[in-house]
This record gives sequence, structure tokens and C-alpha cells, in this order.
Amino acid sequence: MRSVEELIERVRGQGGKATSQRILIWSALKGDVSHPTAEDLYVRLKPRLPSLSLATLYNVLNELVEWGEIRRFDTGDGRIHFDPDTSGHSELVCMRCHRVIDAPTDAVPRRHVPERVAGYRIISHSEQYFGYCPDCQRALEPASTREE
Ligand SMILES: [Zn+2]
Repeated sequence: MRSVEELIERVRGQGGKATSQRILIWSALKGDVSHPTAEDLYVRLKPRLPSLSLATLYNVLNELVEWGEIRRFDTGDGRIHFDPDTSGHSELVCMRCHRVIDAPTDAVPRRHVPERVAGYRIISHSEQYFGYCPDCQRALEPASTREE
């Protein structure tokens, strides 16, 4: 994701307005490595933007996705996550506690996201691995097999 200043330039260049809502949403996302859902961002932003609606937030997020500034991915449980890191990396998704983290690059190397594939102009690439995090594996183990 580009800097907030560059996004302001971009939206103005397109004849749009860098509204205070847009700027606060962009600022909230910049550098966020928590893969927030729109609902997470809504809870975080609402105290500073009392007039914010979830619909507006979705519009601003989807606009960033269309611009190729952020990635959107689904974790198969109805949750839509957003990530300002658009480089070709993978996420690890825990199917029990729904934690989402970036896969370590020594386990899954980052890959180059091609600009074009078979005539398509590529905006983003998404890859998730689903499983159980170490904490959830321990919680799911029968008590008798648990090492103390
Ligand atoms: Zn977990």
C-alpha cells in the first residue's frame, strides 16, 4: 500500500476527494499486519469517526482493493480480511481461533506477483494455508496424551 500522501494525490488526480473518513481509514490500514476484517476496523475507527457506517467503510476498502493498494481474502468462515501488504506472500489461518498470520518466508518463500497472466492485468494474488495453530492443537489434544 502506498503512503497516505500518495493516496491523496491519486484520489485527487482522479477528481475524487480525500475526505477525512478516507484519510483516517487509509491511516488505520497503513502498516497493519493484523489482517483486520472490516468489522475489526469499524470497532477501531468508530470512536474517532462517529458518523462512519460499515457500508462506507466497505466502500473505501473495496476501492483500495480495486486500486491494487490492499488485498482482500476470505477465510472460508464468512470473514473477509484486508491486508495492506500486496507482495506475494501467504497467510496461515487457524480454523479454530481464526487467527491469521503471515507465513514465515523460510517456510513459504515470497513470490513475485506477475503484472499479466494470460491477458489478465493482475491486481493481487492471494494464498492461504488452513489448519490449527500450536495453541489450538494443544487445546484439541485429548488430556491423556498431553505432555505436562
Ligand atoms: Zn488457533
